[in-house]
Amino acid sequence: MTRHDHQLHQGEDLRNAARDRLTSEGEQWTDMRAAVFESLAGFEKPASAYDIAEAVSKAQGRRVAANSVYRILDLFVSANLARRVESANAYVANAHPDCLHDCIFLICDQCGQTVHIDDDTLTSGVRDAARNAGFSAPRPVIEVRGTCADCDDA
Ligand SMILES: [Zn+2]
Ligand SMILES: [Zn+2]
Ligand SMILES: [Zn+2]
Repeated sequence: MTRHDHQLHQGEDLRNAARDRLTSEGEQWTDMRAAVFESLAGFEKPASAYDIAEAVSKAQGRRVAANSVYRILDLFVSANLARRVESANAYVANAHPDCLHDCIFLICDQCGQTVHIDDDTLTSGVRDAARNAGFSAPRPVIEVRGTCADCDDA
């Protein structure tokens, strides 16, 4: 992966970047999709489809099914708007919807706080190792469990 102007977005800026990314894929930024993204981006920890369905239901005052949230999250992951944290079985908003990386997640065992780092030299090493072992189109999933600085202090 080449060097580039790597940008991490947040707040309004992140929502706009996510919308631009999704519409550039030929998908519509519907009210429901916007609401799901808004909710996902508001979580401080990885959120499950159920967590998000509950938050959106509360915000909209009507019942939103976890199934439809799940389909939207699936779309978000394939469009680079969200990432799945496999070991937590949950999702986080992708802070860089406009550039693709094999995100690395550091997950606190105590509080669930998840820190996201991008280190392409690390992940490309994993890709190379997988290719050398005969794997095609490898997709590294690197998640590190431990204790975050906040919990370590306590
Ligand atoms: Zn980048
Ligand atoms: Zn990343
Ligand atoms: Zn912690």
